[in-house]
Amino acid sequence: MHWTTHILTGATLGYLIDRPVQAALAGVGSHMLLDVMPHYDPDSELGYVIDALLGVLTLTYIAGSGTIRGIDTRHAILWGAICGALPDTELLVNLVEDMGPEQYVFPSHDGTLPHMQTGLAASTVSQAAMIAVLMAIARHKLRLEKLRQG
Ligand SMILES: [Zn+2]
Repeated sequence: MHWTTHILTGATLGYLIDRPVQAALAGVGSHMLLDVMPHYDPDSELGYVIDALLGVLTLTYIAGSGTIRGIDTRHAILWGAICGALPDTELLVNLVEDMGPEQYVFPSHDGTLPHMQTGLAASTVSQAAMIAVLMAIARHKLRLEKLRQG
């Protein structure tokens, strides 16, 4: 699954949960579920580089945004995003040496859980739809909180 999708999903779950420890656990748990969900892993390095850059930009925005800090005083969004992203950091070792699946720790990377593949179009549409649904739920929560505050 794309790293940026893991980050956005973890961040959104963090916002919905609003508790840092539970958000962190949801981030890691969602990473596992998303890796099992059929998706497209690009063959070229370019796709991973673009995804990594988007992910870093997204994490930087989440960490530095005053707007997000204003609605996320407990930093649950940030913890969800970081812990959604964290498992894929073990894949970075591939940049310096070839790793076999048995050398990884995370269950969706070491072959314990299936890492199912699909085509690029189906992967893009399913990830975009999932993020849109989560964001719509988060937007609804934000509206309700604003109404409650008057
Ligand atoms: Zn992963």
